[in-house]
Amino acid sequence: MSRSRIVIVGAGFAGYQAARRLSRKFRGAAEIVLVNPNDYFLYLPMLPEVSAGVLEPRRVSVSLAGTLRGVRLVLGEVDGVDLASRKITYVDPEGNGGELRYDRLVLTVGSVNKLLPIPGVAEYAHGFRGMPEALYLRDHITRQIAMATSEEDPAESDARCTFVVVGAGYTGTEVAAHGKLFTDSLAKQHRKAGNGLRGDSLPRWMLLDIAPRVLPELDERLSKTAHRVLTKRGVEVRTGMSVKEATNEGVLLDDGEFVRTRSLIWCVGVRPDPLVEEMGLPTEKGRLCVDKYLQVPGYPEVFSCGDAAAVPDLTRPGEYTPMTGQHAVRQGKTVADNVAASYGYGQRRPYKHNDLGFTVDLGGVQAAANPLGVPLSGPLANAVTRAYHLAALPGNRVRVAADWLLDALLPRQAAQLGLVRSWSVPLESSSPELAHSPRRYQGPEGRRTDSRNAGGNSAQG
Ligand SMILES: Cc1cc2nc3c(=O)[nH]c(=O)nc-3n(C[C@H](O)[C@H](O)[C@H](O)COP(=O)(O)OP(=O)(O)OC[C@H]3O[C@@H](n4cnc5c(N)ncnc54)[C@H](O)[C@@H]3O)c2cc1C
Repeated sequence: MSRSRIVIVGAGFAGYQAARRLSRKFRGAAEIVLVNPNDYFLYLPMLPEVSAGVLEPRRVSVSLAGTLRGVRLVLGEVDGVDLASRKITYVDPEGNGGELRYDRLVLTVGSVNKLLPIPGVAEYAHGFRGMPEALYLRDHITRQIAMATSEEDPAESDARCTFVVVGAGYTGTEVAAHGKLFTDSLAKQHRKAGNGLRGDSLPRWMLLDIAPRVLPELDERLSKTAHRVLTKRGVEVRTGMSVKEATNEGVLLDDGEFVRTRSLIWCVGVRPDPLVEEMGLPTEKGRLCVDKYLQVPGYPEVFSCGDAAAVPDLTRPGEYTPMTGQHAVRQGKTVADNVAASYGYGQRRPYKHNDLGFTVDLGGVQAAANPLGVPLSGPLANAVTRAYHLAALPGNRVRVAADWLLDALLPRQAAQLGLVRSWSVPLESSSPELAHSPRRYQGPEGRRTDSRNAGGNSAQG
């Protein structure tokens, strides 16, 4: 008789934890299969440090094969779930199709960039949800500063040195905070080389949000700290403000001001991976409905959690758990326990977790944090934030610490490799974890692999 097969789709925060726990529980008694487009787990909270040149990209990419014993990794992007015959179909990185039957299915496909129907945004903005976007941004920023220093037209030079971040949640706030330090450091290096910006000015960063404060979803004390650090650093924080239109030349703000820029960074939030909607099951704001045991009603062999699932929040009746890594990690562990329980190993348990606080890395020695509800700022918050990230990372800890040390001692590297181009990171994408191409890969039978990713981006390359 063949072993029972548990298929986990998506190796993010929830899927990684689920795979790890299931392999430890079953010790080979069941086949644990993890399907993911990449062979690494991406530690998203430190992505802003990658785009700002603090961390090298592989530091936040933890090898799945190297850290998940007893788990079979299948590289591929799932494009269909056949609930009736219990199988999934996927496309591998070379464009070949495959299918896998399952006895239990755990869907942890996470989320993608959220779009708003604002003219020009899909064409001229870039999101921040995957490694390709972070690498694109790092190179793009480096290139803009270098080109600004040699630009003879002052208006053009200013536009290249203006960076607009929309969305002041933790992602946008961290991107702007780290980005400003990065561009200031690059500008100083060019100045030392005798090629400074016009009037030796520093690059301009704007952080916009329609909400009345930065970090609107977090404790107000964290907002105050972040606001203070950002404004002191020179970031223009504009709350109650958004973008009306984006063009090749810049962005038109709600109040009628036109800001010339080549850099519109879209951090307005995320929506569940479109695979969820394609399944045709009940959803809540696009997230797959599950019960408190993380099971899909009507399909006891199908489980889901993390950003992709609407998990009832038992600590706040009537609400769903927010889309955070903190919840996804814990739900990944619970889902593993409940899958095991469905085979008779232990008792299933409802998911319940009280928030332990949040950390927001503001770059340099600054951070805002409220571990267990205690508000912290400055270097202490920064130490807590970094310690938390090191503890939460499932690998690469020494390498990350080494990069932090090097960054404290040496200037940032002003070198752009230019390998990720603007068109390969379209804002509207169902797979922000992959760099796209107009014809990503032509399989042996001429099969296009980018059918789930139709849509282009004509922003500056
Ligand atoms: C820049 C940034 C900073 C953040 N900082 C914090 C923070 O400080 N604290 C915090 O709590 N949260 C933070 N978050 C949110 C947190 O990262 C998410 O809530 C968390 O990643 C959700 O986990 P998940 O497992 O549901 O999804 P993910 O971690 O996104 O994983 C989903 C996985 O599924 C894969 N996948 C997607 N579609 C398919 C498919 N069709 N087939 C196969 N595989 C697929 C993806 O490649 C990915 O590996 C941050 C998010 C971002 C973007």
